[in-house]
Amino acid sequence: AKRGGGNQVAWFRSGMEQELTIRSELESGIRAAIPRGEIVPYFEPQVNLRDRKLTGFEVLARWEHPARGLVTPDQFIKIAEESGLIGELSLSLMRQAFTAARDWSGDLTLSVNISPWQLRDAWFAQKIIRLLTETGFPAQRLEIEITESALFDNLALAQSTLNSLKHQGVGIVLDDFGTGFSSLAHLRALPFDRIKIDRSFVASMNDHPDSAALVNAIARMGDSLNLPVIAEGVENEVLENRLRAIGIARAQGWVYGKPLSIAGARRMLAERRML
Ligand code: C2E
Ligand code: CA
Ligand code: CA
Ligand code: CA
Repeated sequence: AKRGGGNQVAWFRSGMEQELTIRSELESGIRAAIPRGEIVPYFEPQVNLRDRKLTGFEVLARWEHPARGLVTPDQFIKIAEESGLIGELSLSLMRQAFTAARDWSGDLTLSVNISPWQLRDAWFAQKIIRLLTETGFPAQRLEIEITESALFDNLALAQSTLNSLKHQGVGIVLDDFGTGFSSLAHLRALPFDRIKIDRSFVASMNDHPDSAALVNAIARMGDSLNLPVIAEGVENEVLENRLRAIGIARAQGWVYGKPLSIAGARRMLAERRML
């Protein structure tokens, strides 16, 4: 039995080593993919819930892998964060998205996901502002989405970064609301313009009509703090109607459209005469 155990440990080790190899291959893959332009922005439509009018898009990372096809962010964002590549990845993604969307009509916004790791960079605000200048994309049309976990390790730095971006006209969205801790304290301490209710709450409205009460409470809190609420993961019209009745301002989800490539977004805008 003892020898068996020993073998098991050895097997386990080699399993871990294998995992490390896969990881480091993935890491060098990401490192090479960024300058090659393989990590590209996809655009998920966001609408005004009252009239379904398009207000803009959430920018979502996709890896156009030459062998594996279109890879979703759950396969590479975490490793990009842990290997210090997320800042570079994000700037490359934003550069492509800003350049593409610069000439899209009117006041369509882009809402970009920002990793907690990026908020630890004291130069983050300057990098964004420089990129806006460089690409000619107006700050007023940019929103950044941050999660509460981003605020824990250095609230003072996050505050000063978000305040200087807001000063330039960039909107600040609290993402995945309801999944973190001490949300209420953060809502007061930081210059948010909008909160986004996490998909898990919206989805559970299907099975538990009671959880509509929770979404309703978030909406009323938003009302009293003057923070418009956006709901994500709206997959059907039943959910859409419930959210509209609750008074949620904006929504995104499959009922409005899945994330589109740059070409796909352009086609959609052309059909709507919004190019
Ligand atoms: P998230 O910020 O919560 O983004 C929403 C996710 O829900 C997206 O998944 C989107 O495709 C998916 N989704 C949208 N509508 C629906 C719907 O109606 N039903 C269902 N079932 N799903 C829907 P995606 O693109 O796979 O992104 C996953 C997560 O990866 C994002 O979650 C975000 O946290 C992260 N992510 C994506 N792009 C970036 C990025 O550029 N930087 C960073 N730091 N994180 C990113
Ligand atoms: Ca998001
Ligand atoms: Ca979410
Ligand atoms: Ca998220």
